[in-house]
Amino acid sequence: MKKKFFNSYEHDASRAVGVALEVLHPRTVEDVKKIVLKNKRISIRGAGSGLEGGAVPQGDVVLDLSKLDEISNLDENRKTIEVEAGVVFDDLQDYLQDYNLELPVVPLSHSIASIGGMISTNAGGSRSLKYGRMSSWIKWIEVIDAHGRIERKGATELSDYVGMEGITGVIVRACLRLLPIIPRSASLIQSESAEELVNIIQELKQKQDVSSLEFFDKLISKTLGLQESFHLIVEIEGEENADHVKIMKLVDDAYSFSFKEKYIIEDVKIMINKFPKLMQWAEERDIPIFGHAGTGVVHPCFRAKPAPITSWPGTNGSSIVPKGDVFVTNPLAEVGEYCPLVKP
Ligand SMILES: Cc1cc2nc3c(=O)[nH]c(=O)nc-3n(C[C@H](O)[C@H](O)[C@H](O)COP(=O)(O)OP(=O)(O)OC[C@H]3O[C@@H](n4cnc5c(N)ncnc54)[C@H](O)[C@@H]3O)c2cc1C
Repeated sequence: MKKKFFNSYEHDASRAVGVALEVLHPRTVEDVKKIVLKNKRISIRGAGSGLEGGAVPQGDVVLDLSKLDEISNLDENRKTIEVEAGVVFDDLQDYLQDYNLELPVVPLSHSIASIGGMISTNAGGSRSLKYGRMSSWIKWIEVIDAHGRIERKGATELSDYVGMEGITGVIVRACLRLLPIIPRSASLIQSESAEELVNIIQELKQKQDVSSLEFFDKLISKTLGLQESFHLIVEIEGEENADHVKIMKLVDDAYSFSFKEKYIIEDVKIMINKFPKLMQWAEERDIPIFGHAGTGVVHPCFRAKPAPITSWPGTNGSSIVPKGDVFVTNPLAEVGEYCPLVKP
């Protein structure tokens, strides 16, 4: 691949920029093994939708796994399926739909995120309130370690790889657990007050049949054509309603908006009682926020410039870092939550 095409491989969805020495596109597990054995520094890449700079090479060879995209061995009785690491989440869901099955962990980046990336980041999503994160849906994985050994890992060994962002090995294949597709309905709740919204969220979180609580602040609501107030999407299982798809699509629209506007999306976890403070903080700075109110993982959208990962704020508690003419702020530090860890 010519150097000029490397550019897109030197970013992910964070503001990190890096340098790729070469970009390789293995088609088989054996190809991956050869690449691992031949190269000392490898940057593993799924779809590059990560928000932490984990797939951004720092003078490494990029191992693009998107061509490892086989789906096989669906077991309808045991409700399991085998997938290669490069399979895109939505492609898997489309495949499973014909069998009335689904993987219930749905990240907002569902149209692009790869299964390997979802496993290595232990992705959550809009239904994590009910179904947890990826780790709950993996039976086994096949990994290639730094010595080129291909091994199958299951049960207690999974935690050495799931959520490790590739630092312990390349995930090449996985066997995933599935669920029958469940009828769902969705409704939209509007509120002028963040405090009122918190009470509603806390009440709804107690209900067994609530699978998703997605949140938009006033700025995002306005861009979605809703009234300029807070909104909560409530997804409930058991019955279908005609508006389900239309209402849930608002979540994708929020993502499209942030993408089109070239915002840098942060991925932060907040305790629900700090929600009103975060909303006030963001409103004062014109920072749009949307995200998973059910699990407290929200996405503040920043106007930030790409920067080498080495210049990011670290874990030293710094909350505001000057970057040229913009200030990149860590919202959680200011509202009294922890600073997110940044991968070195
Ligand atoms: C708009 C938006 C919304 C998002 N919403 C969510 C959300 O709801 N929930 C959520 O959890 N995340 C979310 N994300 C973050 C991201 O999409 C997920 O973390 C996703 O799982 C990453 O998948 P990927 O294929 O893009 O991985 P990449 O970005 O390519 O890689 C992510 C990390 O995993 C490593 N990696 C990738 N593939 C492998 C492999 N096969 N073996 C070993 N290591 C590997 C990479 O080196 C890197 O460290 C969102 C991102 C965006 C842009």
